[in-house]
Amino acid sequence: MNIHEYQAKELLAKFGIAVPAGHAALNAEEAVAAARQLPGPLYVVKAQIHAGGRGKGKFAELPADAKGGVRLAKSIEEVEANAREMLGNTLVTIQTGAAGKQVNRLYITDGVDIAKEYYLSMLVDRKSGRIAMIVSTEGGMDIETVAHDTPEKITTIVIDPATGFMPHHGRSVAFALKLSGDLAKAAQKLSAQLYEAFKALDCAMIEINPLVETMDGRLLVLDAKMSFDSNALYRHPDVEALRDETEEDPMEIEASKHDLAYIKLDGDIGCMVNGAGLAMATMDIIKLNGAFPANFLDVGGGASKEKVTAAFKIILSDPAVKGILVNIFGGIMRCDIIAEGIVAAAKDVNLSVPLVVRLEGTNVQLGKDILANSGLPIIPADDLGDAAKKIVAEVKQAA
Ligand code: ADP
Ligand code: MG
Repeated sequence: MNIHEYQAKELLAKFGIAVPAGHAALNAEEAVAAARQLPGPLYVVKAQIHAGGRGKGKFAELPADAKGGVRLAKSIEEVEANAREMLGNTLVTIQTGAAGKQVNRLYITDGVDIAKEYYLSMLVDRKSGRIAMIVSTEGGMDIETVAHDTPEKITTIVIDPATGFMPHHGRSVAFALKLSGDLAKAAQKLSAQLYEAFKALDCAMIEINPLVETMDGRLLVLDAKMSFDSNALYRHPDVEALRDETEEDPMEIEASKHDLAYIKLDGDIGCMVNGAGLAMATMDIIKLNGAFPANFLDVGGGASKEKVTAAFKIILSDPAVKGILVNIFGGIMRCDIIAEGIVAAAKDVNLSVPLVVRLEGTNVQLGKDILANSGLPIIPADDLGDAAKKIVAEVKQAA
């Protein structure tokens, strides 16, 4: 789960981390009220969307030379004018895709005199299975570009969970950022606080880009992105309350209500599979046969009729789906029960696209009989390769 920049900064501030003062606003009046609470004379009006690259972004509805999603304002009147221009419009950035995201919230914050911008992030490193910090002197830029063009400017510091964050980790961060004196101390303190926040809140990622050195010699978090491990959210109702569903894919929200692991993808073959590993293999084999999956969908081990029906409805609500491949292994749940679920769900949702079903496991013959005798145009498949070939052929034929 992702949250907005202003929410991330509020959370980080609770761990003692220095952030500029600021307030969120939903309309121009709130933006003015927010600015009045700040000292001025320099304000920044920042679009709050779940995507980065806002500064260089463009508003779809405004002229091409209009300013982006991060705007400096030298007076309260300018804050108001910018807020009116930004709210309700669609901001397109390198991270939003071409469709962009509608700006419904703003963050009005103190303008900072920047001496230098740095990059600092913390994430769960899959390779080492540990929390890692990624640090670079090249802040304010797209870190993927830095990693591609000048990888030597990126330092990765891995933290052993057995020792936790040690003073030497902090010194490595300060060294990688080429800081000395008070700034180096500030960087050490900040990294330790970030690690505390990361662990305490079960984060998946915290990205500070930029972390800035101010003209008066302080270290400040100027932008913050935070995402959380959704499997740990039950431990953090306060974090869960920060969820902004208007920023999420409506189909993914519907799926999470039914406890289905669903991720929308770009292809046209809808997949319904039980078990994440089998789902990955199914997506791979669709690609191997020259087509692309429309989604990742794991209905879980105990795929009940209700879950199968909900999954069908979600897959079919995606207009890109031209065919469905169901690939289910009946282990915990027997194949005949699953087949009944598929037949009931297919009748319930008025299936309008070809459906290939591959069942394997306990009571597989019973399950196949139920599908064959259902009167529905379900195409049976014997194994994974056969299933992928059949659905790809069906979809290509229909196109
Ligand atoms: P994004 O990464 O989405 O473009 P940022 O918050 O990183 O958004 O802002 C982009 C740039 O705008 C920053 O790199 C920084 O140069 C400038 N900026 C952002 N916030 C402030 C601020 N409070 N004061 C001064 N400049 C800012
Ligand atoms: Mg940024």
